[in-house]
Amino acid sequence: MQETGMIFDFELIQVSEVKNSNAMEKEGLIRTINRLIDFGCVIDTIATDRHVQIKCLMRDTYEDIKHQYDVWHVAKSIRKKLAEKGRTKATAELIGWIQCISNHLWNCSQHCEGSASILKERWLSLLHHITGEHEWKEGEETKTCGHAAYSPEQNERKKWINPTSKAYRELESVVLDKGILDSLSGLTDFCHTGNIESYHSMMLQYCPKRLHFPYKSMLARTQLAAIDHNSHIGRGQMVASKGPNKGSLMYSQAYSKMCKSWSVRPVFEKKTYSFVSVLMDRVVKCKRDGLSLPPCAVPTLPANIAPIPKPQKSQAILRHSSRF
Ligand SMILES: [Zn+2]
Repeated sequence: MQETGMIFDFELIQVSEVKNSNAMEKEGLIRTINRLIDFGCVIDTIATDRHVQIKCLMRDTYEDIKHQYDVWHVAKSIRKKLAEKGRTKATAELIGWIQCISNHLWNCSQHCEGSASILKERWLSLLHHITGEHEWKEGEETKTCGHAAYSPEQNERKKWINPTSKAYRELESVVLDKGILDSLSGLTDFCHTGNIESYHSMMLQYCPKRLHFPYKSMLARTQLAAIDHNSHIGRGQMVASKGPNKGSLMYSQAYSKMCKSWSVRPVFEKKTYSFVSVLMDRVVKCKRDGLSLPPCAVPTLPANIAPIPKPQKSQAILRHSSRF
């Protein structure tokens, strides 16, 4: 993807070329980086999730490229850990804090000015805030939460966590988790891949994983998904045209089972799919002018990708019957 969020090139990787999905991600990244370098791009930073294989690849093979983590993936992992910790009666109060803690991580990453130490201090400051303590003595630079003072009513409404409680100890184990603390240095540039995540979920509408498509179909469907994505970049947020909120930006509400809370999401303008009529016009023109598409090189694909050979069907039926 370019900075504009446009898909400008892609390649289908055959499952038979790699051992598993992790190897496929690694292979995909290697090919993407090499192709960008071949195009003459100078890659400054790459943001990925926290797969160990990818981390090692970036460290060992592409040491000149800065490797950052996607904030969304790290925040998701923290939300998941907290949801697990909050399952018992004694720790259930953590659940109400999950969304705030996730927002806090985003905020720390966005406002750390590229400094890993500032980011870490701000991240750890949540262990103070969550107990109702908003100023403290220890720490290098961060000694307050930085938010406006709460009124007595606001303070009363907040569900502060007792620092001697089990819930607090469990929270501490997540906040101070070595894996999470190590990840913080990869969040200093506030990189996030929301565009790609929404592209992937849209692509699943064209290429559902549960269905098999022949190679040419898969290629065409992926191309359509890329055209759909590129044609709808920069869609604005929908504005209410009637009702009491007429003229204001529209949002939808979604319930998160993990955080047990509701959140709002912007509603974007409807897609126009204007590319469909353009494509149809071109198909008619090609046919009318006797033009044909360039040939599609279909790679040699194995009959199946199972790790052991397929047995004789008659023997398999016999084995199936003998079970009964
Ligand atoms: Zn605070």
